[in-house]
Amino acid sequence: MFKKILVANRGEIALRIIRACKEMGIPCAAVYSEADENSPHRRLAGESVCVGSPISAKSYLNADAILDAAKKTGADAVHPGYGYLAEKAEFARACADAGLEFIGPGPDILALAGDKIACKKVMAEAGVPVTPGPPEGVSDVREAARAAREIGYPALIKSSGGGGGRGIRICRDEAALQDEFPIARAEAGAAFGDDRVYIEKLIEKPRHIEFQVLADRFGHIVHLGERECTIQRRYQKLIEESPSPALTPDLREKMGEAAVRAAAAVDYFNAGTVEFMLAPDGRFYFIEINARIQVEHPVTEIVTGMDLVKEQIRLSSGGRLSFSSKDVPIRGWAMECRINAEDPDRGFLPSPGVIEKCRIPGGPGVRVDTHIHQGYEPPPFYDSLMAKLIAFGPGRKDAIAVMRRALDEFQISPIKTTIPLHRRIMDDPSFIQGDMDTGFMERFSPGEEEDD
Ligand code: ADP
Ligand code: ADP
Ligand code: MG
Repeated sequence: MFKKILVANRGEIALRIIRACKEMGIPCAAVYSEADENSPHRRLAGESVCVGSPISAKSYLNADAILDAAKKTGADAVHPGYGYLAEKAEFARACADAGLEFIGPGPDILALAGDKIACKKVMAEAGVPVTPGPPEGVSDVREAARAAREIGYPALIKSSGGGGGRGIRICRDEAALQDEFPIARAEAGAAFGDDRVYIEKLIEKPRHIEFQVLADRFGHIVHLGERECTIQRRYQKLIEESPSPALTPDLREKMGEAAVRAAAAVDYFNAGTVEFMLAPDGRFYFIEINARIQVEHPVTEIVTGMDLVKEQIRLSSGGRLSFSSKDVPIRGWAMECRINAEDPDRGFLPSPGVIEKCRIPGGPGVRVDTHIHQGYEPPPFYDSLMAKLIAFGPGRKDAIAVMRRALDEFQISPIKTTIPLHRRIMDDPSFIQGDMDTGFMERFSPGEEEDD
């Protein structure tokens, strides 16, 4: 087992990883930026190293400073969490070169998963159903128009290097595509340092269904069931649950098999997520693989009883998977609301300031993953995620009832958060019925501006 793990992240996920280390009896050290000097992750870790100034590029994305911190603290492994360096192949390679274990897939897998065009091609060749569209990407507007004509409108322009819901554009017709194409390319280049784009058929009224997978170094791959992440805003998840109300045992088996096949096609290692669009006709399509722990991993932990962060650490230290997908018991229902410091009544404007009042819910069926507390002022430089509220019970209705009660208990003020929005969604008849698609939020809170 590792001698010491450096936790290369901040916020709730840093706390989550530090807690796993403590429970496993593995010493750990944190990194922090100048803006996070008084942050809870620094305190909880005990040992910590400052890696730079507030902006992420100078601290949490500063690979050299993080490698130095590992050296200084005597760590022999690095857990990158999600975001930041988690999917950067060069960083994983630099860790290996420095004799450090990067807790996640190796650089080759990260490079392939991060290249959505190349990855989709591998999936199609492996017999995983992928969203229709040319597998090579498109290099100019004429090729883009030809591709879109072939698959039919509406079509999407997506960025090969995209992530976090950015770099996706809908084109309803060819005129729109002509307008959008140059913008999409320029944006992709600026945002991801990679201006390659591809055309994909827009799946109408889809549900977002993803499968959690685990893989060891000995070729064993299992899936731990699905998460439904259909409630989104601007292609970013707001609410996630497991299991999905849309899956029959038969469909679950088919999609689970496709997820394992997808992971096998890239010789996957460690924890990962295979994302699909599920169409109303029951057909499903691979969209991407996320090669890291995900924000919404707790809902899977609750219904499977497994600790995914500990599994990541165990697998990276050479552990084996000694069970198969069908041996994983799925018990009960779990749901997660992402609580962001944004004002849902004012176009989701960021809501900065000191948290003067902070009452965190508890009781049966509640888990809260958060780094905030009374008197905390979220630094304006980072993600607006303040907390993940997870509610669970024997069935979906029970989980919703717990979620309502917990949202009512949850107080964060005077800053504005998405708590009231989540509370309203929990009373929505379609949501309660499990009758949803990714357009849910547009119908639920119409009228907010479309541009970025
Ligand atoms: P999840 O499914 O785990 O929620 P997200 O897409 O929401 O994944 O991403 C998790 C975190 O990583 C978010 O903070 C998001 O902004 C960030 N992220 C993911 N991919 C990228 C990317 N390519 N560029 C910048 N940030 C990213
Ligand atoms: P990211 O890397 O930013 O997470 P994804 O490819 O995973 O990008 O897509 C994010 C979201 O965008 C999906 O959950 C879905 O809501 C929407 N989306 C992506 N591709 C399609 C598609 N082909 N048809 C319909 N919606 C899509
Ligand atoms: Mg995605």
